[in-house]
Amino acid sequence: MLDIIDHGNSAGGAKGRIWALDPIDGTKGFLRGGQYAVCLALIEDGDVKVGVIGCPNLPVDDSTSLTADIGSQQTDGTGKGVLFSAVKGEGATSRPLTNAGLAPSKSISMRPVPDISQAVFCEGVEAAHSNQDDNAAVAKRLGITSPSVRLDSQAKYCSIARGAGDIYLRLPVRKDYQEKIWDHAAGDLIVREAGGQVTDIYGKRLDFSKGRTLADNKGVVAAPAAIQDQVIDAVQVVLNLK
Ligand code: AMP
Ligand code: MG
Repeated sequence: MLDIIDHGNSAGGAKGRIWALDPIDGTKGFLRGGQYAVCLALIEDGDVKVGVIGCPNLPVDDSTSLTADIGSQQTDGTGKGVLFSAVKGEGATSRPLTNAGLAPSKSISMRPVPDISQAVFCEGVEAAHSNQDDNAAVAKRLGITSPSVRLDSQAKYCSIARGAGDIYLRLPVRKDYQEKIWDHAAGDLIVREAGGQVTDIYGKRLDFSKGRTLADNKGVVAAPAAIQDQVIDAVQVVLNLK
């Protein structure tokens, strides 16, 4: 097993066909019995073509709205476990994880946000991975009064893609941190195929052609396409980028 894992040494980049695998994304969530995910993406010439994310601790029902307790003590197993997938140009789906093979899949999409102040926004649990003060300031600027929902891993991308939440903010803590492609590739495609946009703090699409990291991006802002500009605007004001 360790030898096989050591084969995962691709440099990534703008040419070639690679699989980006995160066998346990959200290790801290896994340890606290909260959210974690098994993530796989097919990247061809720097473009994400397929994204698959297994979330063993998310509720099966796509319409269950995110609640504050989603980030911990979710391991009782009843009604939990979802497999999300997306193929470029063909939409995104969810299906329950069962003990008896593949269950039927359903098409998923982000929910409309007619009033941005009512949007549910989510972020990571770990304060070392995104700037929770800046995230909160952006939410406040958008008129959102409810606190963020905190959960680990790419389960955040999946949750907004299925309309259980609306906005995912990951504003950088450190200037020099480069996000890893395996932490974002599958989620990026699943959200975009569900009707969302995923950009960095400058409003630039995540660029998976730069190697093992998102070297040309800073932070992540994911939201339904119709409100993405508004969210980016608030991010730029909060971060003094405009
Ligand atoms: P999350 O569960 O959203 O906090 O994301 C977990 C991922 O954060 C891990 O897979 C790490 O690769 C990544 N990570 C580690 N350190 C940092 C950092 N300083 N900033 C952003 N992400 C980080
Ligand atoms: Mg990870």
